[in-house]
Amino acid sequence: MNTQDLRVTSADLKAPVVNRSQVLVVGGGPAGVAAAVTAARSGASVTLLERYNSLGGLASGGMVLVLDDMINGQEITVTGIVSEYVERLQKLGLAVVPPAEDRKTSTELWNKWGRFGTFDFHSHTNPKPICYAAAFDPDGWKRVSNDLVREAGVTLRLHSWFSRPIVDNGVMKGVICETKSGPQAYLADIVIDTTGDIDVASRAGASYIQDSYITTLVFRLGGVDTAEAERFEQENPKEARAINRKIKRLLGGAWELWWLKTPIDGVVWCNAPHMSGFNGVDPADLTAAEFAARDRITEAVAHVKEHLPGFANAYMLDVAPQMGVRQTRLLEGEYVMTKEDVTSRRHFADSVARGRDYYYPYRSLLPKEVDQLLVAGRHYSATPEAQKMSREIPPCMAMGQAVGVAAGLAIQENVLVRDVPAADIQAGMRRHNADPGDIPSANATIDAGELVTA
Ligand SMILES: Cc1cc2nc3c(=O)[nH]c(=O)nc-3n(C[C@H](O)[C@H](O)[C@H](O)COP(=O)(O)OP(=O)(O)OC[C@H]3O[C@@H](n4cnc5c(N)ncnc54)[C@H](O)[C@@H]3O)c2cc1C
Repeated sequence: MNTQDLRVTSADLKAPVVNRSQVLVVGGGPAGVAAAVTAARSGASVTLLERYNSLGGLASGGMVLVLDDMINGQEITVTGIVSEYVERLQKLGLAVVPPAEDRKTSTELWNKWGRFGTFDFHSHTNPKPICYAAAFDPDGWKRVSNDLVREAGVTLRLHSWFSRPIVDNGVMKGVICETKSGPQAYLADIVIDTTGDIDVASRAGASYIQDSYITTLVFRLGGVDTAEAERFEQENPKEARAINRKIKRLLGGAWELWWLKTPIDGVVWCNAPHMSGFNGVDPADLTAAEFAARDRITEAVAHVKEHLPGFANAYMLDVAPQMGVRQTRLLEGEYVMTKEDVTSRRHFADSVARGRDYYYPYRSLLPKEVDQLLVAGRHYSATPEAQKMSREIPPCMAMGQAVGVAAGLAIQENVLVRDVPAADIQAGMRRHNADPGDIPSANATIDAGELVTA
């Protein structure tokens, strides 16, 4: 039997309507929590749906443990909810941030901070400058997310896996989730897709493109004598480089620093192995990636324990519960950000959020074909090349906050989300202490004919 030609359809879907709210956010990662909390703080009734058992997406389940891409030189460009996270995590002792006086370039400061990953990874200097960035703990991220959502009065449903959109004549009306109790329907005036893979928008009929980038199953090691490891690499850089080269070969791909310190003493996170060629929305590929990654991790860790000073007593603390998928489907929205927009720091009159030194126009968060639907996060409307350099956690949160503001305004003014003026979103972002990028930095590119559509 050729299974490719088989289709199963079901006409008898009956899903009870379990909830109705003004704003429905699907996906409880960094962008989704930012969107839900901001819309709720703007006065809307908000429901947030998440497929897994906790909030945070890749920042917790994926164990991606450094907040970066928040600075343009010495200017902090990503603010708002991300700053609240940093502050709350620091109070819990679960975030490490270099103080302002240490945000400079020197070997001494590199030796002090480099292994926390709190450096400007875009710089070409050696050593790289230490900058405003935060190394944090994944469970701390979940707890802070819970607190923010609870305090804002968001109705949260975990264990709820979005499966189909409810669309009426090109207008979003809600979604259906699969749950242990069967399908459940959620109705709303505005839906925000923050699934990272535009699960909602793609099924609702919005155009998109599909690509992929490296996939990584992050892991953490405990029992590491990080002081000894750092001393060894500082005193024996050549020897350390050779050992690390071999480890990275066994892992089959990693960034220059394959292990980084965390706020917990003796615990390091390993942003590896990097694997290519996997489709992050295909269960067969994801299964193969899980197996391939664990095989590589097992082999590499055995070698690390034997050969890398400081790691003799290291043990596998955990492997991320969630595969680290960086890129899958990307919205093809009202505006598609290009690599050149990012690298030239192109400023848009309808900029509503910022990354490091680049700007997100509101149009890149709006699908063309479907009304009352917004997207935010790593699946925003961009070419694959542009997305690779503009999808870090803080900017995803800024996008989330911008659509949360937009949704709140649309409810208040009783207008379609696509008709909310960008200037109002910019003012709203400022009310929420977030930088919408309305005021371009000195190094931005400003087109003479900047287009204002919103
Ligand atoms: C290995 C790796 C390393 C990285 N390193 C860094 C780094 O050092 N610093 C940095 O800032 N960024 C880094 N990034 C990028 C960053 O982690 C992501 O781009 C960012 O987390 C995206 O946030 P998001 O909210 O858009 O999506 P996600 O974090 O993917 O969150 C999406 C959420 O939606 C939920 N969801 C998905 N589908 C459904 C569904 N059908 N129904 C219900 N819920 C659903 C998910 O469970 C998840 O909670 C890295 C990424 C990876 C993979």
